[in-house]
Amino acid sequence: MRVLEDVLAGLENELEWVRRLYTDLHRRPELSLEEHTTSKLVHEHLASFGFDVIRIGGTGVVGVLANGEGPVVLARADMDALPVSEATGLPYSSEVNGVMHACGHDLHVAALLGAAKLLSSARGSWAGTYIALFQPGEEIGAGAKAMVEDGLVAKLPKPDVALAQHVMPLPAGIVATAAGPVLSAGDSIKITVHGAGAHGSMPHLSVDPVVLAASIVLKLQTIVSRETRPGEFAVVTVGALNAGTKSNIIPEQATLLLNVRTYDTTLRDRILASIERIVAGECAASGAPRPADIEPYDKFPLTSNDAAVTERVTAVFTAHFGADTVQRAAPQTASEDFSRIPDAFGVPYTFWFVGGVDPAAYQRAVDTGTVSQDVPANHSPRFAPVIDPTLTIGVQAQVVAALAYLAAKE
Ligand code: ZN
Ligand code: ZN
Repeated sequence: MRVLEDVLAGLENELEWVRRLYTDLHRRPELSLEEHTTSKLVHEHLASFGFDVIRIGGTGVVGVLANGEGPVVLARADMDALPVSEATGLPYSSEVNGVMHACGHDLHVAALLGAAKLLSSARGSWAGTYIALFQPGEEIGAGAKAMVEDGLVAKLPKPDVALAQHVMPLPAGIVATAAGPVLSAGDSIKITVHGAGAHGSMPHLSVDPVVLAASIVLKLQTIVSRETRPGEFAVVTVGALNAGTKSNIIPEQATLLLNVRTYDTTLRDRILASIERIVAGECAASGAPRPADIEPYDKFPLTSNDAAVTERVTAVFTAHFGADTVQRAAPQTASEDFSRIPDAFGVPYTFWFVGGVDPAAYQRAVDTGTVSQDVPANHSPRFAPVIDPTLTIGVQAQVVAALAYLAAKE
């Protein structure tokens, strides 16, 4: 592909600033929806590359490069960091106390800006419109929603396809794609059950919310084990259970924090209904004075890759990177809010993974059976993607995937 050669001709020259930008972003992580410095930096870069820049959804930034008649490609990177204290020991470790780019979103930003620069510099070689979208607040599932609610669809040209990538604990150099569900739908639910408090010595005067909550926790285990078809993927986790202050006081209420993961929206709806049914049933059985409060929060949609888009992108990845580099991605139990953006436009998308772990270290961990201890995953305080070749692969993947759609200019 001549166009690809033209666009990637500038790669080596650009990598130096892309690397520097990456380490700068890593040093200065910003929490979800507070990506002020990051979005300003992104804005300045996009403007200097000749993109029309729009701010959408608080700290969201979108660059549009209209380059004549042709397909419209939207590529997205997320920008936020996590409330994690960095323990990587890297020379460019976070300089912000208790905040860290522990999910690699700094890498996504640097890679997409690198791709945007390359496409802009070689705009004589291709035609169409390239949209580089930088999204805030992914970690709390709020950023894509904020951009959509701020009029994203009305403010941008309608894309033909949407693309996104994520660095994962796979060997660096690997690119992994898959059609269908690749990331689960994620639902967090806060449940508050109400009892009647009393002295710990007088349980007959109480409705004990501790016993009620314990009973709910056990009964919830039957949603996956008894109500879900064996082999169908579902997770129901009670991540927090809080009640009481003192051994001799029966408290008034208990709170539970649940996390649900699914790859199928019908199953998801059924599980959420089962949770409500079980909570209501257990409250009734214990004689609770009033129904429980059930509050959903941190909701993540399903990420299910379009088959045709994934096939087309996988084919160009394989041609560019080589067949042994491109793997089939295993579905992840993690979640993402990226799909809200293509879903808002009603356009197909694909979301792929790039490896970030030093390949030799990864192989050692595989050989010794210690991958789970020795390969820090996303959100770990020791999560430390190797810059080379992760960053250059990330830049190239965005360029190669975009050019699978943008038209070649003769
Ligand atoms: Zn994350
Ligand atoms: Zn992430």
